[in-house]
Amino acid sequence: MDEFALIDTFFKRQSVRRADVVLGIGDDAAVVRPQARELVVTTDVLVGGVHFPESTEPGAVGHKSLAVNLSDVASMGATPLWATMCLTLPEASEDWLREFGSGFFELADRYEVQLIGGDTASGPLSIAVQLIGAVGDSTCLSRAGAAENDLIYVSGTLGDAALGLQVVNGAVAAPEPDRSYFLQRLNRPSPRVELGRAIASHASAAIDISDGLAADLGHICERSGVGAVVDVSRVPLSDGYRRCLSRVGWGPATSFGDDYELCFTVAPDRASLVEGLAGGLGVPITRIGRVGGDGIKWTDGERPYSIHDQGYRHFR
Ligand code: ADP
Ligand code: MG
Repeated sequence: MDEFALIDTFFKRQSVRRADVVLGIGDDAAVVRPQARELVVTTDVLVGGVHFPESTEPGAVGHKSLAVNLSDVASMGATPLWATMCLTLPEASEDWLREFGSGFFELADRYEVQLIGGDTASGPLSIAVQLIGAVGDSTCLSRAGAAENDLIYVSGTLGDAALGLQVVNGAVAAPEPDRSYFLQRLNRPSPRVELGRAIASHASAAIDISDGLAADLGHICERSGVGAVVDVSRVPLSDGYRRCLSRVGWGPATSFGDDYELCFTVAPDRASLVEGLAGGLGVPITRIGRVGGDGIKWTDGERPYSIHDQGYRHFR
């Protein structure tokens, strides 16, 4: 199967057809008709052996290649619209492409995101997805904007994806159903698109947790020119994580990425409003600290706590 047959078979058959796409896959470029005054644009590349183990099931790779971008759009409080994909593949395995496409399109369809173009070439396995989203009536969220005394929240639970990776590497043994749960969180993260949109005009700053809470909250603090005090004992953990806590400590929850939850700050007088909005969506959010001081100060309840690992960095 050559490049063109492959595109026709696996990438041209999406059920979602957006009315604002004038020309999708099949021409030299796609044409869209934006309804919004402001758009957000983001891209993320996943490289086999770097971002996911080569043995990862292709459906999970497809899911994750879009999920990481949806998460970036979510952290801006925007609505995802259109995606493009640059794919390099060592071989055109039809089974691999079919499963990869199912994982990608299942998530794309859920958010009514249309794949409108891309490029396909032979090479080492890598998937670069670009996602374009619309900003609503309010301005979008950013990492800047956190102010003294704002409350710091995170969505969902942290550290599950890190434990999933440790399960894959054999560094941590977990019995079922915890093992499957950690792997699901690693391979099929659920981007917080609805939450991001709901808090867009109420939160003061936001980021998605891709590199670890310590590093990503650090980005909010740096861009906002503030410090923070965070209580590690308040960091939300899943039941499965709690069963491993005595063996793995807080590190996977504070210092490893891939959870794709949101970390955001809210002025105290908006806290109950934001908590109500999240509750209405059925998304758990937890207050873990407060903006203030110099740098990020961690505590464990009343005691000081120190973070050893600041998260993953390429080229380090
Ligand atoms: P060109 O050579 O003009 O760049 P291509 O042959 O690369 O065109 O691509 C043909 C069409 O298929 C284009 O519309 C392109 O956007 C689309 N396309 C190629 N690869 C992908 C992919 N992986 N996902 C979605 N669309 C793709
Ligand atoms: Mg091309």
